[in-house]
Amino acid sequence: MAFQQKLIEWFEKNQRPLPWRRHYEPYAVWVSEIMLQQTQMDTVLPYYERWMKTFPDVKALAASDTKKVLKLWEGLGYYSRARNLHAGAKLIVEKFGGTMPRDFQTLLSIKGIGRYTAGAISSIAFNQPDPIVDGNVFRVLARLFALTGSIDIQKNREKFWRLQESLIPPGQARDFNQGLMEFGALVCTPQNPACPVCPLQAFCWAYKKGDPEAYPVRSPRKKTVQVEAAALALKKDGKYLLRLRPVGSIMGGLWEFPEWKLARDKKITAHEKSRLTVKLAKKEFGTNGLAIKPVGKIRRNYTHHLETLDVFTAELSGTVQPKTRWKHVWASSRDFAKYPFSSAHAKIAKLL
Ligand code: SF4
Repeated sequence: MAFQQKLIEWFEKNQRPLPWRRHYEPYAVWVSEIMLQQTQMDTVLPYYERWMKTFPDVKALAASDTKKVLKLWEGLGYYSRARNLHAGAKLIVEKFGGTMPRDFQTLLSIKGIGRYTAGAISSIAFNQPDPIVDGNVFRVLARLFALTGSIDIQKNREKFWRLQESLIPPGQARDFNQGLMEFGALVCTPQNPACPVCPLQAFCWAYKKGDPEAYPVRSPRKKTVQVEAAALALKKDGKYLLRLRPVGSIMGGLWEFPEWKLARDKKITAHEKSRLTVKLAKKEFGTNGLAIKPVGKIRRNYTHHLETLDVFTAELSGTVQPKTRWKHVWASSRDFAKYPFSSAHAKIAKLL
């Protein structure tokens, strides 16, 4: 209990004044937790403020159309998070009259709310003793208890969840759970943890062993795949072709300039890239002998992949009617702001 109370004391004095901590309103906690998954706090804050201004409560979010929801999320990545928030809000309105349920199991029944988010809402918004384990918590617990099991192995991850739950002091889930996460973000950081001034030093086995940065233990990383890809801004009568990614696919519901993967783990020349792009455009749109021009290059990073996306443009003469099986529109560059894009395609829109 001495460790828990030290941590809570530290949290009370040092917590950052985050907007969702003003009232611990369940909807605000839910939105913040979803935004913070895979995204840094500094990036999230302006998105959070804009979101809460546009959708101040569950009912406002449920009543919105998907396009507006995705537009507001544009640039945050992992768009299924936005779609799930939207679907979850609709369900809360339909089944629970717009009031966020308190019960952990009921929270789990809502689309997009998994064990982590249910634990966050239950403990942070309602102060109930349900566990949360994120990257910060894995690190802090692994160091405090010098746990040597790799956190990439499910069986070991389960042990962290059970351990975290067993540590929650009665009636203090909100401060303890947030305290662990905040402590990992501010003191027990991945590199150079502030051990010399750490208030938990006396409880820390990794410190006693002299190697805090060796924790948490990870399995060897998968090799990064290098991907070469091309995007084509097809222009006709001053407008560009945008296609809609089908719901259920990666980035489903977002708009994009047509793009294709050209090679994996293989370097290809600029000439070869444009030749392949013309060939793929012909296959998809039936366009013959397209004259394409390079516009720029964009690099993007996603799970174990590093992609170089070459952007081309081509002008179609008035009589050519490209065919495509995708749902699509022709949009002028002035209208780009109306369409939700992934960050790579938002960069293409800017280039154009
Ligand atoms: Fe983390 Fe160092 Fe404190 Fe241990 S002593 S909890 S490693 S900051």
